[in-house]
Amino acid sequence: NVPQDENGNITDDIRITSSIPTIRYLVEQGAKVILMSHLGRPEGKADMKYTLKPVAIRLSELLEKVVIFISAPEVVNRQVIEAASGMSAGDVMLLENVRFRKEETKNGANFSKELASLADIFVNDAFGTAHRAHSSTVGIAEYLPAVSGFLIEKEVKFLGDAIESPERPFVAILGGAKVADKIPVIENLLNKVDTLMIGGGMAYTFLKAKGNEIGKSILDEEKVKLAAELIKRAEEKGVKLMLPIDIVAAKEFNNESERAEFDSGDIPQDWMGLDIGKKTAELFREEILKAGTAVWNGPMGVFEMPNFANGTIKIAEALAESNGVTIIGGGDSAAAVEQFGLADK
Ligand code: AMP
Repeated sequence: NVPQDENGNITDDIRITSSIPTIRYLVEQGAKVILMSHLGRPEGKADMKYTLKPVAIRLSELLEKVVIFISAPEVVNRQVIEAASGMSAGDVMLLENVRFRKEETKNGANFSKELASLADIFVNDAFGTAHRAHSSTVGIAEYLPAVSGFLIEKEVKFLGDAIESPERPFVAILGGAKVADKIPVIENLLNKVDTLMIGGGMAYTFLKAKGNEIGKSILDEEKVKLAAELIKRAEEKGVKLMLPIDIVAAKEFNNESERAEFDSGDIPQDWMGLDIGKKTAELFREEILKAGTAVWNGPMGVFEMPNFANGTIKIAEALAESNGVTIIGGGDSAAAVEQFGLADK
């Protein structure tokens, strides 16, 4: 799932290069390697804007060998089945975007079986999507013996050690838009961390739960009660839960919109919070610099728009500056760190 420009050129191939060690290992062992991936959100239709063809080409350059690619709208069709059964040891084939099939994101058994029918073993090397019950992740594993690749091994090792026996203080920073996705993560982290900072779009559901006016900011109405419970639970467990004390707001959801900073408690009705404010960024930064272990997932604001990227940049910089173990997970946060040129730190 690589970022592309308007012409379909791959603008950052880190996700492809990261998968090379596992692919190369399998090739060297004489496996016939059939790769599956998704790209963007074609919404279950064979929308050629999201074809994996450019990925096949880049992969072929990186591996310095032919990558068999059949742009099948059904992902698995007769031609693909024939090509798969005709593969020799060490051959590599890439399937078309698994999200061309509407069953993929619903973990439809028929599609899982079709995928499974092509191979003998399933190797999952996609840590970032391993939590999603989709046909190409969870579904296929029901029909084939499943193992993890080197990337997953590395992620589990780093994350596992850091979370099971962290250097303290152990600090977690969570952001992004979807609260519902992150509730189980918060519940889990509350048993482990000393400090939990919440920014990004999800913070407004928590601010609302504390009785703040949040204007037009993104809100998950259904989760307000749960957010209030989590705030209470943090208190009971002695976890320091930090929410934004100030925010950068806009009138419209675009980079050019009129902007203003407000304290979290005073967001006017027709404004929406799109980034954490300067005071919050500074507070979060100080906390990160004290951390023995810091785990970060999710941007602090709509960082894709430069005018609302400051909070995310500041957090990334603080993590880069930290002397503790810092772990950054999730596509957006990882992309942000790459984009700011801080990944090697
Ligand atoms: P997620 O997939 O839940 O990690 O959310 C990532 C997305 O959240 C990014 O595309 C951000 O632009 C978006 N986001 C972060 N902060 C906000 C905000 N305050 N309002 C709306 N969207 C946000």
